[in-house]
Amino acid sequence: SDHNLDYPASPDAIDWSTHYPAFAGTGKTPEFADVGCGFGGLLIALAPLFPDTLMLGMEIRVQVSQYVQDRIAALRATTKPETPDAETSSPGPYQNVSIVRANAMKFFPNYFRKHSLSAIFFLFPDPHFKQRKHKARIISPTLLAEYAYALRPGGIVYTITDVLDLHEWMKTHLENFPLFEPVDEETLRSEGKGPILDAVRQSTEEGKKVERNNGDKWLACFRRIEVKRE
Ligand code: SAM
Repeated sequence: SDHNLDYPASPDAIDWSTHYPAFAGTGKTPEFADVGCGFGGLLIALAPLFPDTLMLGMEIRVQVSQYVQDRIAALRATTKPETPDAETSSPGPYQNVSIVRANAMKFFPNYFRKHSLSAIFFLFPDPHFKQRKHKARIISPTLLAEYAYALRPGGIVYTITDVLDLHEWMKTHLENFPLFEPVDEETLRSEGKGPILDAVRQSTEEGKKVERNNGDKWLACFRRIEVKRE
């Protein structure tokens, strides 16, 4: 239940400098959202690759989100440069990554402004196999409208799962939603998103587990389309 969770009333009510102190005063807000980030493997893999892009994980489990928070704090502490690099004024790695404990299915719009995201990740989401549990799935027409609102035109939704039925479900819903169009892996790689795709496949704890068990991984990606007069 969400009773004891504190949610921001709106994205404007969030002080991002508490999440990304090294970026305080830059006006930057998160651009990558990892929904149901689990133990944070994707964020940790992507953070050093895009040091100027702010990334936020959302995770509903208390202990797991605390673990990720501690993990980020430890990485920040151990990789802090002794003297700041005057040339790049780089704050050091992992300053650009953070996490909130949140129920993304209920509170996604409380965190992200219209068109503020360039990528949303749904990596190995809980499958909710039974028909009567399908409404618990993280992708549905209602939720897609929220994701499309937060994602800027041209932004990408990345989905991957080892459950074929869930893959078909996510694919069908995204294909049928007017603001998304499928984009294949080759196109994304030609746009320089290869490292992101590699991390999507390999960097998360769940993805590694699937690999150990020789499971299949079904990837499906979608682009947020441009619409006139939005
Ligand atoms: N993406 C991670 C990975 O690939 O390793 C974790 C995958 S795990 C199977 C699914 C995660 O989604 C769990 O950590 C679960 O707690 C989280 N989750 C489920 N429903 C959620 C929700 N409504 N909001 C936020 N997180 C959620």
